[in-house]
Amino acid sequence: MRKIQMVDLQGQYQKIKDTVDTSIQEILNSSAYINGPYVHEFQADLENYLGVKHVIPCANGTDALQIAMMGLGLEQGDEVITADFTFAATVEVIGLLKLTPVLVDVEPDTFNIDIEALKKAITPKTKAIVPVHLFGQCANMEAILEVAKEHNLFVIEDNAQAIGADYTFADGTKKKAGTIGNVGTTSFFPSKNLGCYGDGGAIFTNDDELAHTLRGMVNHGMYKRYYHDVVGVNSRLDSIQAAVLKAKLPLLDSYCDARRKAAEYYSNAFANNSNIITPTISDFTTHVFHQYTLRITNGKRNELHQHLLDNGIPNAIYYPVPLHAQKAYQDDRYNEDDFTVTNQLIDEVISLPMHTELDEEQLAFITKTLNDFIQ
Ligand SMILES: *Cc1c(COP(=O)(O)O)cnc(C)c1O
Repeated sequence: MRKIQMVDLQGQYQKIKDTVDTSIQEILNSSAYINGPYVHEFQADLENYLGVKHVIPCANGTDALQIAMMGLGLEQGDEVITADFTFAATVEVIGLLKLTPVLVDVEPDTFNIDIEALKKAITPKTKAIVPVHLFGQCANMEAILEVAKEHNLFVIEDNAQAIGADYTFADGTKKKAGTIGNVGTTSFFPSKNLGCYGDGGAIFTNDDELAHTLRGMVNHGMYKRYYHDVVGVNSRLDSIQAAVLKAKLPLLDSYCDARRKAAEYYSNAFANNSNIITPTISDFTTHVFHQYTLRITNGKRNELHQHLLDNGIPNAIYYPVPLHAQKAYQDDRYNEDDFTVTNQLIDEVISLPMHTELDEEQLAFITKTLNDFIQ
């Protein structure tokens, strides 16, 4: 059996090596490292794939979130609501901009933001909601848009984990994850579903005016060379990363299919194990399985983590601490009773190897090892 990896970037690279190597060599020959043709081509390809008017490439997914919030004109003291169970980047940029983060609980089955908790957290100071499409499936955007409309709030989708997922509205309209709110952001970190070979990110919007603002903001607040109209940042996607992404984008749907196939194998194998809860997929979204995350309900999650490692099966706890309990984000405003789901999830969740190169022999070994241990 091939060695099992949490993420297999090498296997994936071997299949696109010729295209990637040729375009990187071309960039080296041309020296167009910054703002070269590949950046513009990838931007146009991604706008086309997502069906969104504007893609603004930037340096990483954390910058994308920060710049999106700057572009919307959020100001010190504005409250921004997001999920307690997510990667820290989401709340980090809220804090960095001196906005007030308001963390709320998530749903136990999808791990996405809980709509009732969201409604409860709204105050006259609330200005924005940041739903995170966690692990690869969309949050309940229709309900979120309704709440946002009622209270006049911006919606910023953190789509670092669900690029390629499709959202279906009650009336049958379909949209790509990240193109539903006022603005969406993503990350091209190597292990993400559409990853480059370094850091990268992007912001999406259908709002022409906001797109214009954001394009200047990523470039030192310049709208005309050496005229700085607003305080911006320096956040670029470089040509080499754009070339890698341009080679991978046409394969994104097949990558998502490969992940779904592995997820289906896992879920079938665990279906009759009463101590394992497999991922639930909401009917309004497809799931692109950035992570395949189980809940282990017999209290043996930590033993399982070690047992799998001992058997050469990498695995991870995403996330071991809820954000409201992190040192950097603790606040007297929070009440433990409001986080019953995240407080439970941190003790139960475990993410299994998930990537495009898993084969049946590996999946059979992983599922057998797990089922033998959790009975
Ligand atoms: C990865 C990730 C980010 C940050 O992306 P970087 O490119 O690493 O800065 C933000 N939010 C979520 C949910 C992520 O998974």
